[in-house]
Amino acid sequence: MKILVTGGAGFIGSAVIRLAMSHGHAVVNLDALTYAACLTNLASVADSSLYAFEQADIRDQAALDKVFSVHQPDIVMHLAAESHVDRSIDSPGYFIETNITGTFNMLEAARKYWVEFGKPENFRFHHISTDEVFGSLPSDPAVLFTEDTPYDPRSPYSASKAASDHLVRAWHATYGLPVVLSNCSNNYGPYHFPEKLIPVVILNALAGIALPIYGDGSNIRDWLYVEDHADALLLVATRGALGRSYNIGGENERTNLQLVQNLCAILDRLRPREAGNYADLITFVTDRPGHDARYAINPSRIREELGWRPSVTIEEGLELTVRWYLENEDWWSPLLARNGVGKRLGTDKKV
Ligand code: NAD
Repeated sequence: MKILVTGGAGFIGSAVIRLAMSHGHAVVNLDALTYAACLTNLASVADSSLYAFEQADIRDQAALDKVFSVHQPDIVMHLAAESHVDRSIDSPGYFIETNITGTFNMLEAARKYWVEFGKPENFRFHHISTDEVFGSLPSDPAVLFTEDTPYDPRSPYSASKAASDHLVRAWHATYGLPVVLSNCSNNYGPYHFPEKLIPVVILNALAGIALPIYGDGSNIRDWLYVEDHADALLLVATRGALGRSYNIGGENERTNLQLVQNLCAILDRLRPREAGNYADLITFVTDRPGHDARYAINPSRIREELGWRPSVTIEEGLELTVRWYLENEDWWSPLLARNGVGKRLGTDKKV
């Protein structure tokens, strides 16, 4: 099987590529190499004859048409996106162009290719999305996002992803394009770009500087180890029912404060700090505008229909992640130097 992965130089896309290639699939990685890309995520597979890279921007329709006609994929896994909520608040225009217009361009390139090649039966367009499209849940633990939860996006990022989900469904209903969709909770794990909460906390802790937490730290997220997400994505891409969407989540709800405390406890054990416990560095900072209170996924459909199960517990996954950052300074230190990342989280005023 030849899989065209967009955004394959990013956090989740690179995990998908490593896993797909370990299953023997050929992969074409289409990525514009924005600030969030890191081709070294793919160092272990880049020399393989199963791997090809195309630097292209999903905002460029002609470039996409060319990639489809040159590589003729069996499956498309569309992950390329602007993915950071804080950046979407500061600069929403990029999110509209990449996440909405870029997805439209991908759908059009896929549709032209699919029609031109006689609508091959096994072709699929898998759109990878987020649970943030569903909005914010009440604190009642019995209330979870299902595939039927009405969309209620509340940030420029989630609104742009919601719009892209609607386009994908419309291309299925209107043109018959064979699509599948998935909406996943927060991912964490190796190669997570150091502007997101977990790597910011680990790397700030190692630097002995403030561990910033928005508001009072009570916002709840449902965490999933990235390699378990990649496994779920390959199942959905290859075996999901056409036109159907699948919610993916680890059933690991944590408040942001609990999560940071968990990371501090692992660091206290693996890399004790002379000056005290890492939790002493926790600092509450001005909350993100419109910060959703709670996300939590009901993953029954993917479990029952596709037999998916996460392979690690959150305790195991967090420990694997901390160990990975401790052992891979060569990966993260050039990124910190290049982007000054984690800045907004780290420099907000204390409340
Ligand atoms: P990421 O920011 O780490 O990677 C995004 C990749 O897309 C980068 O390599 C970047 O260069 C590429 N890209 C961005 N704009 C592009 C453009 N215009 N043309 C071509 N390539 C472009 O993102 P991620 O965290 O790996 O997320 C991947 C996908 O999964 C996104 O669609 C995101 O919405 C979705 N998702 C993420 C999470 C999460 O917790 N990270 C959870 C659920 C869903």
